[in-house]
Amino acid sequence: MTAQIIDGKALAQDIRQQIRQQVAQLGPQAVPGLAVILVGDDPASQIYVRHKVRACEEVGMRSIAQRHPADLAESQLLEHLDTLNRDPAIHGILVQLPLPAHISAERVIDAIAPEKDVDGFHPVNAGALLGGRPGLRPCTPLGCMRMLASIGLTDLGGRSAVVIGRSNIVGKPMALLLLAANATVTICHSATPNLAQVTRQADILVAAAGRAGMVSGNMVKPGAVVIDVGINRGADGKLCGDVDFAAVREVAGAITPVPGGVGPMTIAMLLANTLDAARRSAA
Ligand code: NAD
Repeated sequence: MTAQIIDGKALAQDIRQQIRQQVAQLGPQAVPGLAVILVGDDPASQIYVRHKVRACEEVGMRSIAQRHPADLAESQLLEHLDTLNRDPAIHGILVQLPLPAHISAERVIDAIAPEKDVDGFHPVNAGALLGGRPGLRPCTPLGCMRMLASIGLTDLGGRSAVVIGRSNIVGKPMALLLLAANATVTICHSATPNLAQVTRQADILVAAAGRAGMVSGNMVKPGAVVIDVGINRGADGKLCGDVDFAAVREVAGAITPVPGGVGPMTIAMLLANTLDAARRSAA
């Protein structure tokens, strides 16, 4: 039996449609606004920024894309952020990562007003997630949770979840969201021995290592739900995830494809966070 495919593209489209209606209901005086800042000319980042701005416009939100040269001084970037923090028409601010080496990503993230931090990376939002308090959650893990919910998995009590990857933007917040949904969570990373032994225990396996095809069929428990966050270029030059899709779909109960899985959900959650931030600012 082959696994159910969780179609992130279709799910994201539904969510965007709902957001469009909610934005329309807010009316012209309360249009949510998102500012996306890109420093430098990394080709992948340029594509991401274009997608984010377009997605924003499609749901009727206002968007500003600031594109700066790679040699922008950190102090100048901080000044731009200060202006956006004080702009009442802007409810969400996102600085596309990675930043050039001379700019501290930490100082930049810290300079975004927490209530406008739609990426959910600010320490105030990270702390809120850790403490189970309201706040803006990182988009990619949030999208993964929505994908689980789409197949009826909301309360994960009694289930074992394994996350491969411990980054601040994916692995750690992913683990905390799974924990908040009552899963029994294990985090694996590059220093984890016997990875397959751990992953084979997972009812829910989230791969976020950035290693093309590293999750093979024999690392997956039969019937498990496998969420593939990875975005890699395979040897053939094509986009692929961290999961060996062809092999794992023969073992798993449900699986997300790459492309068309977590990626589109991340953008949908960015819109959801921007709407959320706009509503909170109006409350
Ligand atoms: P990262 O490089 O910051 O973190 C990777 C993590 O994986 C690290 O914690 C590392 O310890 C772990 N890891 C690496 N190799 C491993 C191995 N062989 N075994 C076990 N653990 C290993 O990356 P990130 O920013 O967390 O992103 C992870 C992947 O997700 C990348 O492919 C990235 O492109 C992708 N990504 C996708 C989206 C999306 O919207 N789909 C969003 C963000 C990141």
